[in-house]
Parts: sequence; structure tokens; C-alpha cells
Amino acid sequence: MREEDDAGLGSLVSVPFHGRTVRGWVVGPATEPPSGRLLPVRKIRSAVRFFDAGMLDLLRWVSERYVAPLATAIERSHPPRVVGEESAPVEPPAANRSAPLPASAALAVYGGERLLDPGTTTWLRPLPRDEVTACVAGVAACLGSGRRALILVPEAEPLPATAAAVLEAFGPRATGFLGGNPRERYRAWLDIRSGRFDVVVGTRPAVFAPLADLGLIWISREVHPGHREDRAPYYHVREVAMARAGIEGAACVLASLSPSVETVAAAGAGAVRVARAPRGAERDAAPLVESVPPEAEDRSARLGHLLKTARSGVLLVSRTGYGVARVCRSCSEPAACATCHGPIVAERGRSFCRACGATGTCANCGGHEFGLERGGTERVAEWAKRQAGVRVELQDEATAPSDGRILVGTAAAVKDFGPRSVDLVAILDPDRALRRAGIHAGAQALATWMEAAAWAGPRTGVPRPGRVLVQTNRPGHPAIQSLVRWDPVPFLRSEAARRTEAGFAPNHPVFRIEGSAELPAALRSARPETLLATGAESGTVCLVAVRPEALDVFRQAVLRLVSAGVVERVEAEPQL
Ligand SMILES: [Zn+2]
Ligand SMILES: [Zn+2]
Repeated sequence: MREEDDAGLGSLVSVPFHGRTVRGWVVGPATEPPSGRLLPVRKIRSAVRFFDAGMLDLLRWVSERYVAPLATAIERSHPPRVVGEESAPVEPPAANRSAPLPASAALAVYGGERLLDPGTTTWLRPLPRDEVTACVAGVAACLGSGRRALILVPEAEPLPATAAAVLEAFGPRATGFLGGNPRERYRAWLDIRSGRFDVVVGTRPAVFAPLADLGLIWISREVHPGHREDRAPYYHVREVAMARAGIEGAACVLASLSPSVETVAAAGAGAVRVARAPRGAERDAAPLVESVPPEAEDRSARLGHLLKTARSGVLLVSRTGYGVARVCRSCSEPAACATCHGPIVAERGRSFCRACGATGTCANCGGHEFGLERGGTERVAEWAKRQAGVRVELQDEATAPSDGRILVGTAAAVKDFGPRSVDLVAILDPDRALRRAGIHAGAQALATWMEAAAWAGPRTGVPRPGRVLVQTNRPGHPAIQSLVRWDPVPFLRSEAARRTEAGFAPNHPVFRIEGSAELPAALRSARPETLLATGAESGTVCLVAVRPEALDVFRQAVLRLVSAGVVERVEAEPQL
């Protein structure tokens, strides 16, 4: 019987429901007829089976972990249908499976084949020069064992060096699932599903790629915010990948110079293995980091001195623009946006509100002239131009650092450009970055600094090592110390302790729940670990942390409160 001849697990079907026709997926045969009416399937809408039993297990896990409807999890697990693509002929595997694989020797220092133990998760801390080669070697070892591999990168543009290297190394056996228009995305998904490829490189939706015989899921730069889905079911790639590895007997590798607090906590609890080069090798590969106190406008005499001789460099500042408006020149009142009272900033030669985007207008008198507190990428670039012996550029687009220029950018400009060797990497205002609100801010800042610092090359570099300059008033801060000593773990452990004390322990599910005025009392009866409630215009908002072992009971309670109209919206793992 041909697949399209009848419906089965994963089929998309139409079912009559209260006089309407609704879409549904076949999730399995009912062992007993449910109470109430059993509805006949009216029509099979697609010959494609959208998931198999293993994927359904994973999607159920997603639905339960993030307290989201199963249908939402299924919808997010594949690109929207483009019906015309379903009748296009499926190409046979173009792969030459007997072609020699790249050497996997580069894995030896990280535990070799042990990384591929089924059902395990490993935090792999590459030496900076190994970040790309370790991934290629891991994929080669996986294919060598006769299984398939999935590589997840946090962004598609520009193509990360790790993604480019894997696509290049495995040629026709590999494909990218990295954006494109709806037709291309659906085509790529159908091709992957047909078994045409052994290696898939993609961004977060690819964690659900229909790749059979999966042996390895490799997550590049796992602390990157791009690995978290920002709409329902609000999943995190790291967690889904670990669950999928468990269900399908694959291995999961979390690769990062500096991991998440969650990964360090899980490693401490024995749930995640650690693969690092020997301490001596890590030390030799570490960049040379020095710190000085910052002077006015995030400068220092030391930075000015280093800029004079650097032939290549990157200056990282936490703010864009030229400055922040402090006072109105017409009325001398503190500057605030006339539309929303937000902060007014100067950027690209104009002033506007950072919050609402309106042209900078004084809330008090309507004036347009402001006294500025200068600082930000534009101001730094203006100053650096007078110091540097080479060209200075704002890193607007994703420009890789290279010889003959100094780039000025924010953390957003730190990307996977592959190994670099620049003379100077300067982190101008880390203290400001560390003051940022948000439970992930510290871990993300340290990961960004380490990724940028790695561009300076090892302290043993030939002919001469690059330098990392950190301008800080808090050289003893655990994050700064972790950067200087090139070991992220002490700082991340301190972050884990801080979060546990605040009631939001790492790896304990967190939800932001909106609902009616009874919400806090109703949720409290579900015994959460931590509950913070605030009134909002639209109702009540609760921030809730739940012990992992209590998640099931908590979820049942939330679902009852949804039916009772007390809960209106649930967001898992909100950006706190
Ligand atoms: Zn405004
Ligand atoms: Zn004014």
C-alpha cells in the first residue's frame, strides 16, 4: 500500500467538529473509544507524515515541559506547508557514502568516541583554535559509526564558520536548514525527511529536523540567546536536544568556550559530562588579558597607547550611538521623550527616543536641543580614529575582524567568524554590561567576552600575541576573574548559587503566567517553589519557578486554571 493511500501516525487530516471542519493530526490509534462521540476523518489533507513515533514522544515532552498544547508543538516542529512542493519528485541521495571522511583525530583531546555514547550530554570546551575542527571531527566520527548528525547554530546570517565548515567538509551528504523563503524551507524539510542527507546544519527549528538514525546533536555556542524560541512553545534548543538525544539514543554535545549557568549546574549534578583539554593546554591557548580602570567616556590612556600600534582590533562597547540626552537646552529640565517619557539618545546624527522611536522632543517644553552625556559606539569610534594608525570602522553589519582596521561594535557583533588573530581586543565597559538586568545577562556577557577575546590568539602566539584589554573598576569581580584566568566555571557556579538563593535555581522550570486577580492564590495552591506576583494593566502577572519533580502536578493545576478562565497566557522560560 502506498503511503498516501491512508492515514496513519503523523498524517494531517480534516475532521468535522461542531458543524465546522477542523484540521488535526493523527497521534495514534485509540485503544478504547473515548467517551462521547467518535468523529470520522473526513479527508486526508496531505500524503506527508509529519512525525513518527519517536518525534511524537519528543513533541509530547515539549508540550509537557513548556506547558503548551501538543498541537502548538507539532505546528512548530516543521515549516508551514507549501502544498505544491509535496508532489515534486523526491531526489535520490546524491551522497557518495564511500567517500573518505575528514579525520576525527581532533576529538582525541576531548574524550574521542566517548562523546558519541548514546543518550549522553557533554559540555565540550574547545580550545579557541579547535572550535570549528572539533565539530567537523565529531560529525565525521558519527558518520563513521553509520549514524546521522545534526548541527545547531544560533544564527543564519552571516553563516557561522562552524556551519560553513561542516557543509564544506561533507559536501553532498550535508544540507543547510537555515532560513530561505517558505517554499525553500518546506522543500528542504521534505528532502531531509526523505533520507537524502546524513548531516543537517540549521538554526533552532532544525532541532526537530526529521533525520532518522540520529547519532549526534551538536549545539554551537549554547549560551547564545538565538537558541531560545521566543513564541509558544518557548522551547530552548539545549533542553530539546538533550531530550531528543535521550529518546533516540543519540549523543548531545554542547560546545562553548563559556557555557550557560544551566549547563554548569547540570555538570555539577552529574547529568552532563565535561570534555576539556588538559589545564596546561587550555592555559597555553588562552589569550593575554590585562585590566585597567576606565577613564571618561569609556576610554583609558592604556587603550589609546595600544591603539597607536595595533594593525587590527575590535573595541566592544555595550551601547550604540553617540550619547544619551541628559538635559533640555531650552528649559534645563531633565531630558525625556514628549511621547512616552523614555530616554532620548543621539545616534547617526539625529536624536530620538530609545523606547518609542519618536524624534527627540522635550516632554516639558517641546525643545529639540539637548545636553548630551557622550558615550557609545559612535563616540568611541570618533575618538579611536584620532588614536589609531589604521582605519576605524563602526561594525554595523557582520564584519569579521581583519588586518588593517579597528572595528567598534557591541556584543551583537561578536559572531562565529572562525579562528582570527587580531592585535587588540578591548572590552570598554564590562561593568555596565554586568549591571544589566536579567538572570542570563552575566553568563551571556562572559561568553561574548571569551569569544571576542579568543580573536587575540594564544598568549604564546607567534610572531607576537594579540592583547585583550578590559577596562574595569572591579578587577576582582568573578566574571572578570573568569575571563583573566580563562576558566568560566567559577563565575558560573557563583551565578548558579545567586539564582538558587533568589528562588530561581538553574534547570528549575520558570513560567510567566497572566490571568485574573485570583491567579496568585490559585497558583500558590499548586505549591510552586517561588511565586512573584504583580498587577498589570491587563490583569495579574505571576512569575513562577517549579521544582523539576513537581512540574507534572503544577502543569495539571495550570491546565485546570486555564479551563476555569483564571489563567489566560503561559510563557515558559521568559527573558528575566
Ligand atoms: Zn518615546
Ligand atoms: Zn525643554
